[in-house]
Amino acid sequence: MRKLGAVAVAVGAVLVGACPASAADLLRKDVTVASSVDRSCTQGKLSSGAGYVQETVTMPTAGSVTAQLMAASGDWDVAVFKAENGQVIAGSTSRGARELASGYAVAGQRLVVQACRLSGGASSAGLSVQSSAIDTTKVATEQLVRVSTPNAARENVLNGLGLDVTEHGGAGFVDVVLHSAADATKLTANNFNYTVEVPNLALQARQQRQADRAYAAVTAASGMPSGRTTYRRLFDYTDDMKRLAREHPDLVRPITLNHVTYEGRPVEGIEIATNPNARDGRPVFVQLGVHHAREWPSGEHAMEWAYELITGYRRGDARVKRLVSTTRTIVIPIVNPDGFNASREAGELYMRGGGASDDADGDGTVTDPEFILAAAAHPNEYRRKNCRLLVGDGGNCNQVDTGVYGPGVDPNRNYGAFWGGPGADTTNPLTQTYAGPGPFSEPESQNIRELVSTRQVTTLITNHTFSGLVLRPPGLAAQGTTVDEPIYKALGDQMAAQNGYASQYGYELYDTTGTTEDWSYNATGGLGFTFEIGDAGFHPPFSDTVDEWQGTSDDATGGGNRAAYYLAQENTANATKHSVLTGKAPAGAVLRLKKTFQTATYSGSTFTDTLDTTMLVPSSGVFEWHTNPSTRPLVAKGSGRPAHGSPSAPIEFASKKSTTPCANFDTPPPDCYEDTLITVPSGTGIDNAKATFRVEWPTPVSDYDMKVYKADAAGNATGDPVAVSGNGATSGVLGYEEAAVLDPAGSYVVRVINYAGVEPWTGKVSFEGPPPASAPQQETWTLFCEQPEGVIRSARQVYVGRGEKRTLDLRTDCKVRR
Ligand SMILES: [Zn+2]
Repeated sequence: MRKLGAVAVAVGAVLVGACPASAADLLRKDVTVASSVDRSCTQGKLSSGAGYVQETVTMPTAGSVTAQLMAASGDWDVAVFKAENGQVIAGSTSRGARELASGYAVAGQRLVVQACRLSGGASSAGLSVQSSAIDTTKVATEQLVRVSTPNAARENVLNGLGLDVTEHGGAGFVDVVLHSAADATKLTANNFNYTVEVPNLALQARQQRQADRAYAAVTAASGMPSGRTTYRRLFDYTDDMKRLAREHPDLVRPITLNHVTYEGRPVEGIEIATNPNARDGRPVFVQLGVHHAREWPSGEHAMEWAYELITGYRRGDARVKRLVSTTRTIVIPIVNPDGFNASREAGELYMRGGGASDDADGDGTVTDPEFILAAAAHPNEYRRKNCRLLVGDGGNCNQVDTGVYGPGVDPNRNYGAFWGGPGADTTNPLTQTYAGPGPFSEPESQNIRELVSTRQVTTLITNHTFSGLVLRPPGLAAQGTTVDEPIYKALGDQMAAQNGYASQYGYELYDTTGTTEDWSYNATGGLGFTFEIGDAGFHPPFSDTVDEWQGTSDDATGGGNRAAYYLAQENTANATKHSVLTGKAPAGAVLRLKKTFQTATYSGSTFTDTLDTTMLVPSSGVFEWHTNPSTRPLVAKGSGRPAHGSPSAPIEFASKKSTTPCANFDTPPPDCYEDTLITVPSGTGIDNAKATFRVEWPTPVSDYDMKVYKADAAGNATGDPVAVSGNGATSGVLGYEEAAVLDPAGSYVVRVINYAGVEPWTGKVSFEGPPPASAPQQETWTLFCEQPEGVIRSARQVYVGRGEKRTLDLRTDCKVRR
């Protein structure tokens, strides 16, 4: 096995060391704003009235610019504009008095920094502006390629290389972003064939943003409920949410999640329901966007769902009114704001620059300074991960030398359940699927964990791009279907009938672990889905995102994601799909459902999960609490099985003939490989639940690969391989390939392919019995009745299954004792 990780780390270290970030302080002072005015700070450069102050700075070099503001209290926002035309360079509109606006500007650009006081008593704030240079002479060409993956095993080998494997795959292929020549070498060194889909992603980005400009120029309002005609930037999301909460206090409650990001940004959302501040027992639907920085449409659709509910309610739409009054909806459009801001602002340079006349011939040569800067910053537009930088990096996520796509944790591999297994990397922080140093090590995943652990989230959609998929667990083929497969599949299929996507298991794209619903479903039982929106790139022309929403895309077979989300929301409201606790209790008492358990990572190590949710008994003394089932899915399903015998002794074999090296993994000629027939022992007293096939050779000088096939009656290989192992040359003391088959039966052909072998190999098949049997079991919630809150008057164990309703009388138990 080649130690690819070490190579990649060395490349990254050179990159960082060779290009130290050169940062400059452009401004550092206290500003005073005498009175507050509640309005948008980022919509334009203000020229009259109260509530703001402006400063002017000049960019010393091309690069990233960051404005930070901090006040003692209230709500302040900050924006940076081009002095000459008022275009927004950067903005920050978080709730509260700490703001971080970062974007890109060219050398010599005069910038107006505008600090706005929206509310609160503090009249002064600390304001600082820094720039960080980007070397515009260094431009890497990034490509999107289509890699041939003839079977699931090869998909998983590809996914294990640490490349930027996209979520776009289909029959026999997965698309991969190549950031460098080294990435291309990694593919060929591991025997993968590929074709180039997009030869220059930066050029494509420029053309697409030009298309966006043209679309916005002729479109008064898109078919999405907000009417937006361009992709939102981070400050647009927070500004929109702030305004929705201000304008609709009877329907919208702002939420700030518990953990700020590495760059210090809050993660914000809104909760939508009639009487939003009540603590009632309505079931909760969660809509998430932008775990992955570059997947801009995923934030748009999550955010538009909020508009759909709010505008529909105001319009008096009966379906919306029913849903908004019987459920709660939590929208977190940008789970990963640091990464999104870096990606989105890099892309925004193409919205601002030159115009169609620059590079009219499309050969990639541009003269506009913003286009030139955009090309240098472009790797960040294709950023996937969060902004955990390497120790000693300094700099920030927008600074290409340090913040470029390399460092960071994949937040959608950092959830705890099955953390660190296939489809994720736990050792090399530069791989695109780096799972982080431990389960839930990242603020982004921890935020969602704490949100879901403190609510009864019965349905969850986490939006991504791109592949036209509605994915449900399991993420690993070996896990088998979930205990809720019938209702899970039914809902997935119904949603896919609207957006025209394929409804399938997560692993059918490729094996993954540590994803959002790996944890959310297995810990809570709430049905979680991943939507892979669209089929045309991570952030295609904006009009494509409108088409995916409203069902006017080529693939749509119904009402698009808008219609699919309605089905998810109706599933949330449908008590037959979750559980209900109802009954009587003293008015004003707090009911608490709590459960603490161990959740396993992939390696089998465990961490403690606690679900802790509450509701307030209304003045009627009658409560109705929509919850998830009390038994976790994996416990309800059971695992393993009793052994009906012992595993067999190993079978050893060895090379008997010489073969000719062919460096052809996919279709080697017959003289390049040697087949060995292995029959798995069976019969009374034998139980072989797993067979591990291994071939090895004395030194890493050689390179053999292995495929395992079912044998036909004549003892020849038949069908697709059932297991493969095709690593490059090994750097250890010996070379080997190893792969396992679960529940082996009958005969197998082990094919040892001579990729570059110069010495004989030996082989061994080892057998194991089944994992210990754990029968399906039932679990209970612990139901506390507290009054006042925190003072426990009663506690009882309550079992409730999916689709069941339990009626309880807590009036006597939970009385205040005198
Ligand atoms: Zn994604």
